[in-house]
Amino acid sequence: MRGKQITKIESTLSRLLDGDLYTPVRIEGMGVYHATLKRLEELRVTLLKLEDSKLEIENKNNSAIAAVAHDLKTPLAVISGYAECITDGIDDKDYAHLILDKTRQMNDMVLSLVETSRQKLQEETSHKIAQNMQVYFNGVYQRLESITDQGRINFEMSKVPNVSVRLDPYQFGRALQNLVTNAVKYSPEGSTLRIFVKRRNKYLRIIVKDEGCGIAKEHLPYIFDQFYKVDASRTNVSSNGLGLYITKEIVTDHGGYINVHSKVGRGTTFVIGLPIERENQEKDFTARVDKLPTSAKIAISFWFGFCWGFIYRLARFFESRRLSTLFGATMAIWFMPFMWIFDFISTCAYKRLIFLAD
Ligand code: ADP
Repeated sequence: MRGKQITKIESTLSRLLDGDLYTPVRIEGMGVYHATLKRLEELRVTLLKLEDSKLEIENKNNSAIAAVAHDLKTPLAVISGYAECITDGIDDKDYAHLILDKTRQMNDMVLSLVETSRQKLQEETSHKIAQNMQVYFNGVYQRLESITDQGRINFEMSKVPNVSVRLDPYQFGRALQNLVTNAVKYSPEGSTLRIFVKRRNKYLRIIVKDEGCGIAKEHLPYIFDQFYKVDASRTNVSSNGLGLYITKEIVTDHGGYINVHSKVGRGTTFVIGLPIERENQEKDFTARVDKLPTSAKIAISFWFGFCWGFIYRLARFFESRRLSTLFGATMAIWFMPFMWIFDFISTCAYKRLIFLAD
């Protein structure tokens, strides 16, 4: 490289170091000089992307703080209104109780916030152990039922398969509790909440299905976002848009997935999938074969049929020394899917192979 080129590279580098990421690097020249400028331009684009994502996170945090401040402001204003009434000697609506109610609501909100920030820490320290799901759900059944009792909605739960899952009982209990609490919050009195626990391949699926107000299609992609509320103006139902966010964090930390299906006016279904412990996946050979898809089972039976036909033809060749029999055996591979059926039938019926030129 010539002196002029080295100076240009040096000045480009110091421009990038000074934080000027918006002026593109002009790629010119040839050979090493060209390659170096190209690399510097790539570096500039990467740094710019990093800067953008940093800004995005900052904006998100700012709007989250604004949302929390707003949510805390509303009950605070209501509390101070009630307190003023009491001071003025007006207490026609049992304001002390209303104040207590609002404080509880605020307390819940703050607790959820604390829970959210603690979540990340706990992900690293969460204590997961292999749990038999029948035992686990037996343990949490009463707690979940007691939540629905308060909301006076019916609660049903399916049989739980006898499998184990690695989970943190406390954390996962929180996730289940959030889903059940939501179902109670957003379902009318007398409706039914059902929990189905099923096994599907390597996952245990926990389906929480309610008959509540449902969620409109346009909101579904966002409901697991932090602070997202379908009805931001909702004041009668204690809501902070953190429950589903925490639930998703917990499920993901357990190596699982969560998704939602909903129809307005018909109800909402949340599906959690958790990986089943390997040693509990049946070791029994026939059970494993049973679980294979039908196409795989057909392919296996064809394959064994082919092997049988091939070996039989070879044996017959050594007996008869007829080349056509050997030819049939070596060619058999191309006719694997159907040849063995003819061979099998002809062997059973006529005690000889009839396919090809036997
Ligand atoms: P919160 O319920 O505290 O507002 P969530 O994160 O638990 O926060 O829920 C986010 C939003 O999703 C809620 O505001 C609510 O509108 C909607 N939602 C959650 N679960 C249900 C449900 N089972 N039925 C109807 N809407 C629901």
